[in-house]
Amino acid sequence: MEFTYASYRALLALLRERGYSFRDYHHYGDVSRCVILRHDVDFSLERAVRLAELEAEMGVGATYFALLRTDFYNPASQRGAAALRRIQSLGHEIGLHFDEKAYGPELSPEELAQAVRKECGMLSALLGTPVSAVSMHRPSKAALEADYHIPGVVNSYGKTFFREFKYLSDSRRRWREPVLDIVRSGAYDRLHILTHAFWYHEAERSLGETVRGFTSSANRERWKQLEENFTDLGSILREEDL
Ligand SMILES: [Zn+2]
Repeated sequence: MEFTYASYRALLALLRERGYSFRDYHHYGDVSRCVILRHDVDFSLERAVRLAELEAEMGVGATYFALLRTDFYNPASQRGAAALRRIQSLGHEIGLHFDEKAYGPELSPEELAQAVRKECGMLSALLGTPVSAVSMHRPSKAALEADYHIPGVVNSYGKTFFREFKYLSDSRRRWREPVLDIVRSGAYDRLHILTHAFWYHEAERSLGETVRGFTSSANRERWKQLEENFTDLGSILREEDL
């Protein structure tokens, strides 16, 4: 499968054609065949919005997990919060993407549950809506195996979503299994599919091109952020001279 919007659309169409209903982490038991679409937003909210719009055009809902403790974007900034609200307004759910490594040494299960609940509360306060699902960013082996039960929060890494669902992921821009063949086969009644909006573009780009495009676009973004906070920035450094 290519990492293009056309391919992603084709994946959604195939899921629908094979009889999969699109469900979320809270409601999935009412149909015989369902898929939960999960997106971890690791680097860019703008790219997440783009994919959210595509899904909405196809009448499909997904869960977007946003990081609170990251240097790449800011859910509390005007632009960041607007992006998250835009995703919600398209009919998707926002969950918490939790980075346990932001806490330093390994957290005990109790400490982790407490930190997740606290971050869900913070994200919820920023959005003005409940946040009741979590996915783990860079999970440790212990976190993967723990099956944490966190009061009031659905853990997408819980056993239910890994044992009772067939899990497919495009982590590091690589499907470990042939996702289209698996969907087409209809061999599984429950699918749990993780994709990262970051990898998808109009035209196919390699892993290296994707990363290079992201780092080189940062210059211009930084300039625009400065411009919003710096009177007459253009007289010091013009955008075209970057
Ligand atoms: Zn992640």
